[in-house]
Amino acid sequence: MKCPYCGYADSKVIDSRDVNEGIRRRRQCLGCRARFTTYERLQPAGLFVIKKDRRREEFSQEKLLSGIHRACEKRPLPTGAVDKLAVDIEAQLYQSGRSEVASSVIGDMVMAGLKNLDYIAYIRFASVYRDFADITDLKREVDTLLTGEVALPPGTSQLPLIPAEEPMAITGSQRRRRR
Ligand SMILES: [Zn+2]
Repeated sequence: MKCPYCGYADSKVIDSRDVNEGIRRRRQCLGCRARFTTYERLQPAGLFVIKKDRRREEFSQEKLLSGIHRACEKRPLPTGAVDKLAVDIEAQLYQSGRSEVASSVIGDMVMAGLKNLDYIAYIRFASVYRDFADITDLKREVDTLLTGEVALPPGTSQLPLIPAEEPMAITGSQRRRRR
C-alpha cells in the first residue's frame, strides 16, 4: 500500500480493528511518517444470474434495486424499506454459497418480499416479472391476494389495500374518514 502523501511503498500498521465485515487499519508511512487508514474487506465470490433465455449475467445489486424501486414508485413505504429488501435478498443469495442462481429464484424472492410490504408494488412487479398475458392473469393474481381476507382476524371486514404497518397509509385513510 503506497503512502497517499509521498508515494513511499512501505508502511507499518499502528492499529487495527474489526469494523462491520472488514478490518480497519491505521498505518504510518515509513518515509514521511504520515498516517492513513486502509480497509480490508472480503471480496464476495462471483454470483451469476441465469436468465430465462439461459444467458449468464453477473449479479447486479443495482439492477435488483432498480427493479424493486420501479415497482414501489410513489408507494407510501417506510423510508429504507425498499433498500432493505434488496440488501436482504443480496445477503441471502451470497449466504447460500452458490455461484449461479436462476433469475426466477431472485424474482420469487422479490415477490415474497413485496407481498409483505405493499400489494400494489407486488402486483406491479408481478405484472412485469410474471409477464401476465392478459387481464385475466392479472385478475387471478389480485384474487389470490384478496382471498387472504379469509385469514384475517374477526372484525376486519375488508382486506386493507396496504398492509397495516405503513403509518402513512393509515393516517391517509383516517383523514379521509373524518371528513
Ligand atoms: Zn509517506
